[in-house]
Amino acid sequence: MTFDELNLRPEILRAISDLGYEKLMPVQEEVLPILLNEKTDIVALAQTGTGKTATFGIPLVNSLNFGTSFTEAIILSPTRELCMQIANDITSYAQHINNATIVPVYGGASITTQITNIKKGAKIIVATPGRMLDLMRRKVIDISKVQVVVLDEADEMLSMGFQEDLDAILAQTPEDKNIWLFSATMPADVEKIARSFMNEPITITVGTRNSGAENVKHYYYLIHAKDRYLALKRIADFYPNIYAIIFCRTKNETQDIADSLIRDGYNADALHGDLSQAQRDHVMNKFRNKNLQMLVATDVAARGLDVFNLSHVINYNLPDEPEQYIHRSGRTGRADKDGISIAIINLKEKYRIKQLEKITGKEFIKAKIPNGKEVCQKQLFNIVNKMQNVDMSNEEEIENFLPQIYSQFDWLSKEELIKRFVSVEFNRFLNYYHNAPDLNVDESKESSAEGSGSNKKRERQKSRRGDNDNSSANNGEFATISINMGRRSGTVPQRVIGVINETVKNRDIRIGHIDIYDTYTLVEVDAKHVVEIFNAFDNRDDNKYFVDLAEPQPAAERTKAPKRDGGRDRDGGRDRKSSRDRSRGSDFRGKSDRRGGKSSSQSKSRKR
Ligand code: AMP
Repeated sequence: MTFDELNLRPEILRAISDLGYEKLMPVQEEVLPILLNEKTDIVALAQTGTGKTATFGIPLVNSLNFGTSFTEAIILSPTRELCMQIANDITSYAQHINNATIVPVYGGASITTQITNIKKGAKIIVATPGRMLDLMRRKVIDISKVQVVVLDEADEMLSMGFQEDLDAILAQTPEDKNIWLFSATMPADVEKIARSFMNEPITITVGTRNSGAENVKHYYYLIHAKDRYLALKRIADFYPNIYAIIFCRTKNETQDIADSLIRDGYNADALHGDLSQAQRDHVMNKFRNKNLQMLVATDVAARGLDVFNLSHVINYNLPDEPEQYIHRSGRTGRADKDGISIAIINLKEKYRIKQLEKITGKEFIKAKIPNGKEVCQKQLFNIVNKMQNVDMSNEEEIENFLPQIYSQFDWLSKEELIKRFVSVEFNRFLNYYHNAPDLNVDESKESSAEGSGSNKKRERQKSRRGDNDNSSANNGEFATISINMGRRSGTVPQRVIGVINETVKNRDIRIGHIDIYDTYTLVEVDAKHVVEIFNAFDNRDDNKYFVDLAEPQPAAERTKAPKRDGGRDRDGGRDRKSSRDRSRGSDFRGKSDRRGGKSSSQSKSRKR
């Protein structure tokens, strides 16, 4: 379909032709005719880079009345960079229309300047939710006449914690406005927004729902956790022309890995929220211009970066939320080019690959970390290739030096000469990879070694629990876990459920009885999700809560709110410390409970 067939204002057609757009992109084919011809709410599932800004920008510019100055449309987006990008794009669609005022506002920049800009008149405001709310509270922005609210990258906004701001903004919009929601994925909290605030939205999915880009191949490497960085270096060496984002989970990890890569001679830099805006801009520009090969980044910081044509996306650590993996991997494999998304995982994390396969609908191929010889071979051919394709435009200047160079080398044969030139670059690799160890985990050997590890131990305990389950009747599929939160810190059952909910994103996990003691709590949870729960707690950044398997509480004891003199630790002789605490040699539960803390018993057998 072409834009001429859409009945657009001639000024917009001119702008589109100036921009060089010829045909509609798939999301535009699906959504543009609807938004141009109907007043409706819409949920469009499409990823960034698919042409979605034009999908909502063109209908807005086409329908709004630029003869008046009050605000008729607001676009909410997760980051400052995206706000600026959207405002620029829409300004270009409206470039031939008089008085088309499109104003971006976002945090981290002077609010005074933004207030001045809005006061001059803002037909369309593009905002981050926090700044939007701030300006509404200052009565600078009046949204009482808004016709359309666009929620762009809704899943990102929610995962960045903007839920409350969005709720507050949407609550103040007029009843008869329309909401156009764009999101790459549809997690439960986005569905909730659609349910709570939208009126019978039309839902359009472009491409496969929740899936990654089509031409991305997904690989995972199984290594020991201690070898993660070595594995990363090997991957980087194996792909000499790599142009990648390496995703880490925390700012500290991001900085550490970038520092290590730089120290080890790689063309890498860090991007995270502890850098100033100027520093972030500098790094992003270097990366955009391909003066930087490897960008080590947190998810939040990378959102501001409009680079999608990566050769690789590397999950140095998998994201806590599987949906985030789709965002990460969607940055490669664009424009019909093949892309590679890599996850470096240890045995404990292997179950997460299954989870990702389910959510992306793609197979994850187990790949082998190349050995030293393979890396050297790859580097060698890269050097040879580089030599073959070297830019020879300075040939004439080099000519001047050649006689002297020839005479210096005249004692060497052609073969010797080639060997020496190649060695200049190659020796570094040969030296480094001489006797390099195999980093791959051999699963068949590891399964017995892992038997002493925490997961296997938990599995064993779990099956033991299943064998002689003496907990309440009919709860065969429950396992009992302990959490280091107790009555002394004011714990109530709702808070326990809240902590589990905020840590483990899977809302299908059922919770059974909750027994709160002075310094810890026993909770019955779906046995089949126990490992997932442990991993989610292990991955908490704040290290605040720890869980471990506990012996199920006998029903009779539970109802008596027992004095637990002697405690089950002594009776059962089980070690209930979490893996973290075990390694630190401390016991999170404190002592009083062992001597007989009281429990408050609650039955909460329900789906969260
Ligand atoms: P977006 O998903 O909005 O970030 O768009 C990705 C890129 O596609 C932007 O650079 C747009 O300018 C460009 N684009 C959007 N629509 C079209 C189109 N119909 N034809 C060619 N390029 C487009």
